[in-house]
Amino acid sequence: MNRKGFTVWFTGLSGSGKTTLSNLLHHRLQTLGITNVEVLDGDVVRTHLSRGLGFSKQDRDTNIRRIGWVAQLLTKHGVPNLVAAISPYREVREEVREMVERVGGKGSFIEVFVDCPIEVCEKRDVKGLYARARRGEIKNFTGIDDPYEPPLNPELHLRTDSSTPEECTEKILQHLRAKGLIPEVEVKTGS
Ligand code: ADP
Repeated sequence: MNRKGFTVWFTGLSGSGKTTLSNLLHHRLQTLGITNVEVLDGDVVRTHLSRGLGFSKQDRDTNIRRIGWVAQLLTKHGVPNLVAAISPYREVREEVREMVERVGGKGSFIEVFVDCPIEVCEKRDVKGLYARARRGEIKNFTGIDDPYEPPLNPELHLRTDSSTPEECTEKILQHLRAKGLIPEVEVKTGS
């Protein structure tokens, strides 16, 4: 059983690929025999843990602090967790990093910058939100009329406009292997 907790924190614009990569990584970890993984998706969190919060800087920071609190609890108890949240503000991401590393040790927080030009995100428009933001139906939309502060020193910087989800996921797995957070070899499920 895997006992080392860690947080893989995906940050990036809406439509950059955070949910896609967290789900794919979840799946790949399961094939490695790491089955106690939890995914915290920003969109889902906002319907439960952060229900009622809006998109002002203050509410966004509160949302991220709550997710960070859960992430550190999971990390403390050896549960690998994958967070997919825009988390546009650098300062609160750093706060969360400190919270997680305090309980999980240095290297237990892996910040993944899911980098994709806004034009490409907007073209993908997975949830139709960019079109609505451009029509003025959604205010404070990250990248349009709200800021996004890219990480300055992320553990991983992935360009999702020029590589496939599988290639991006492999880079994360390589990092986790190199840090000894996951085993080298795949374990067949059921064996
Ligand atoms: P987010 O969670 O960041 O809002 P989503 O994962 O919902 O973004 O959407 C990203 C979209 O981009 C998906 O349709 C996905 O298939 C596509 N995509 C293309 N290349 C990549 C990549 N390398 N990584 C992740 N997603 C990608």
